[in-house]
Amino acid sequence: MARARKAAEAPFDPAQPVIRIRDLYRIYRMGGSEVRALDGISLDVHRGEFVAVMGPSGSGKSTLMNIVGCLDRPTSGSYVLEGVEISNLDRDRRAEIRNDKIGFVFQNFNLLARTNALENVELPLLYSAKTNLTDADRRERARRCLARVGLAERWDHTSAQLSGGQQQRVAIARSLVNDPAILLADEPTGNLDSRTSEEVIAVFQALNDEGRTVVLITHDTDIAQFAQRIVAFRDGKIIADHPVEDRRRAAGGTFADAPPAAVEAVAAPQAAALPQAAALPQAAAQAPETTRTPGPIAVETAAAQAGPRGRS
Ligand code: ADP
Ligand code: MG
Repeated sequence: MARARKAAEAPFDPAQPVIRIRDLYRIYRMGGSEVRALDGISLDVHRGEFVAVMGPSGSGKSTLMNIVGCLDRPTSGSYVLEGVEISNLDRDRRAEIRNDKIGFVFQNFNLLARTNALENVELPLLYSAKTNLTDADRRERARRCLARVGLAERWDHTSAQLSGGQQQRVAIARSLVNDPAILLADEPTGNLDSRTSEEVIAVFQALNDEGRTVVLITHDTDIAQFAQRIVAFRDGKIIADHPVEDRRRAAGGTFADAPPAAVEAVAAPQAAALPQAAALPQAAAQAPETTRTPGPIAVETAAAQAGPRGRS
């Protein structure tokens, strides 16, 4: 236990894969029969990659997501996330690592219905180790993440007042708020029409352009073409793993109302990791009252300014 904790705090070598999976099995036993949901897979994902995990229904995609996202444990095999062996950690320790390192986006958004966008985005901060954040710090961080997905103006809208695409963008903002090592999205466009899907994929591409690692699970061949790499599953096994030729670029994804600070706060883990308000950019120290509408701050697109870069 103490060893695992120590390993988690050691600096992570960026040359190492963010995700390192070896001979991983997840076997469900029901009565006399067993289902090999994951049947001996090995996989590396490096920092800054955009991987689409593809496969038909029942091929093991969600099982993989649950293990990679530290929600579930493998039956056997190794899963190392940023240098930390996860497969033998207990529930509490996995929860800690999950809150710190994983940003989840789900098919059905999973937003609280009667809660506004800003509060939804703030929520993971209430459960994170970064408990020293003041209410104002949390609000400011959440506001920046909303700006990053182009929804700063809609901060006080509840889910019912947002379209499906907007709800998914709120969910993406929520997934960013803890500055995770990876964004894990399970069929994020499954409930969206094709135009709205592209809008949402554009946000993932823009975040990936900034150096975010994205693992996107989909059964949709068209959606997979927006990734850099496709890993294909069948019956719990990886049957193909190859780069995407002629990768598609989705229109949009960077927003005029996203202040450069939005990217700073999200992409700079040093600042984000420090709990004190003093460690946050200037704007956070002068955080607005809840009632203030976070207005447009800058016109330059943050991604264009920041350029490609890793999460150092
Ligand atoms: P996908 O996300 O690709 O549709 P899943 O990972 O959900 O596939 O499921 C892979 C296989 O594991 C399927 O055969 C499914 O029925 C089985 N499975 C998934 N979860 C469970 C569970 N909790 N108990 C028993 N079998 C399960
Ligand atoms: Mg699934």
